[in-house]
Amino acid sequence: METQTGKGPHFIEQIIIDDLKNGVVDELRTRFPPEPNGYLHIGHAKSICLNFGLAEQFGGKCNLRFDDTNPAKEETEYVESIMRDVEWLGFHWNSLRFASDYFHQFYDWALELIHSGKAYVDHQTPDEIRAARGTLTSPGVESPYRDRSVEENLELFGRMKEGVLEDGACVLRAKIDMAHPNINMRDPVLYRILHRSHFRSGDEWCIYPMYDFAHGYEDAIEGITHSICTLEFEDHRPLYDWLLENVSVPSRPRQFEFARLNLSYTVMSKRLLLELVNKGIVNGWDDPRMPTICGIRRRGYTPSSIRRFCAEIGVSKANSIVDIEFLQFILREELNSTAQRAMAVLDPLKVVIENYPEGKVEMLEAENNPEDPGAGSRLIPFSREIYIEREDFMENPPKKFFRLSPGSEVRLKHAYIVTCRGVVRDDAGRVIELRCEYDPESRGGAAPDGRRVKGTLHWVSAPHAVRAQVRLYDNLFTLRDMSEMEEGKCYADYLNPDSQTILDGCLVEPMLANAGPSDRFQFLRQGYFCADLDSTPERPVFNRTVALKDSWAKMQQKGQAD
Ligand code: ATP
Ligand code: MG
Repeated sequence: METQTGKGPHFIEQIIIDDLKNGVVDELRTRFPPEPNGYLHIGHAKSICLNFGLAEQFGGKCNLRFDDTNPAKEETEYVESIMRDVEWLGFHWNSLRFASDYFHQFYDWALELIHSGKAYVDHQTPDEIRAARGTLTSPGVESPYRDRSVEENLELFGRMKEGVLEDGACVLRAKIDMAHPNINMRDPVLYRILHRSHFRSGDEWCIYPMYDFAHGYEDAIEGITHSICTLEFEDHRPLYDWLLENVSVPSRPRQFEFARLNLSYTVMSKRLLLELVNKGIVNGWDDPRMPTICGIRRRGYTPSSIRRFCAEIGVSKANSIVDIEFLQFILREELNSTAQRAMAVLDPLKVVIENYPEGKVEMLEAENNPEDPGAGSRLIPFSREIYIEREDFMENPPKKFFRLSPGSEVRLKHAYIVTCRGVVRDDAGRVIELRCEYDPESRGGAAPDGRRVKGTLHWVSAPHAVRAQVRLYDNLFTLRDMSEMEEGKCYADYLNPDSQTILDGCLVEPMLANAGPSDRFQFLRQGYFCADLDSTPERPVFNRTVALKDSWAKMQQKGQAD
């Protein structure tokens, strides 16, 4: 058996291996059951990779099921985005399902519970119900409506469905045990009245089932064998089982729980993400800083990097937080071997090569990816006037600054070795141009006499370069573990004011003007980039997906550079 990581099987894989071996199930059936009340985030990707991945791995089937039982928050827009995101991750559902298609069946099962004396209509207010639930150390108090006759309950439940009662007038509750040590078993609410149009069933229903009531029944209808959910539902499992045991379901699913994915410096709750969108803190669900799937897609992440990340972090029962740097590491590793190299200057400083003939243009060969000989090469223009990165020049450099400074020599990538002979300043004394001399014998970058030239700079030819906007991103939040916010503070107190930097005067090599959003590039020495959805050939826009590790910055931090 192939595991998802090539390591030993994780605990859910082991359960499935045993169940198949022992004939507990003939075929694995899983589902991914999002509520269409927001866009998916990378936490959902973990659940998607797990459910769809297990089905692939064990020759089973996985459904995409919309758990659309709460019309107050659900919309078609979310359904469409979720389908797009699952497909983008590279998974195919066996069957597309909606819990709302099961409303009649749910209703029949609620009647079955009433008939057998296992459910009753309660007229207490939500506050009264909550107050009577008791605590972890004290039992709850039974509702005064608990011992109604079956006939009375049937009649009242019928009236709830007919629409003659107002929202909140009463609820249907399971009749289990108000002294049960597990609070979820103290007569949980099963149905409530909600006069609200549903985006699929319209006004057909004005009572809607609660999540706990519906979920196991959805699984049973679809023949799900392993209903995999996150750890916070562990305490709900006795109720999941009770509901299945007390009506005539067509199959008997079992629930298993795993630890949810938490990522550093971000939040993963749909409610908070929606708030970021609604308050304009980010520019929509697909803002490249968002942990949403559409956000990281726009940012330039690949589906394969997300899948590999989910496989590497593994599946366990211990909640933890994964460093965002790990996700970045996996992406870098992938893009290093697949991304086309390109030259882009983000903060341009002009360089005039005084001994290079005016008007001359050479087309120099540049390899597309040194890691992949099959990626071929392209021709890039070189001329007398070029631009380099402003930070690659220092007038009074410290030791070990292997870039350009007066009198020093550097290699221009794919081109020539140049020496800085002078600077031009503006009225304020700021250097606005460098005067250089090139070594005509060094075409391609190698010194003819074998002398050592340590630094290599990226550059673009001034007359050929294309102006572009480049957007750099950083973490949305400043706190590594957002579950550890100080008391009295909220997420807004931890927003990173520098999470986005927009650079407008960047100059990129000509071929980049035609880049599309699915093309990925390594801008030499800058990081990995993709064209943004806003990009046009007239006005190219690039997102930095992830930076390269900057060895110079690291050395400075370590105090190695004096
Ligand atoms: P939120 O609490 O942010 O609203 P949710 O968990 O309620 O999200 P659902 O639409 O119910 O969102 O999630 C669909 C599935 O994805 C569920 O099975 C849920 O357990 C799983 N899931 C959600 N968040 C994570 C996460 N961070 N890590 C792993 N699985 C997750
Ligand atoms: Mg949920």
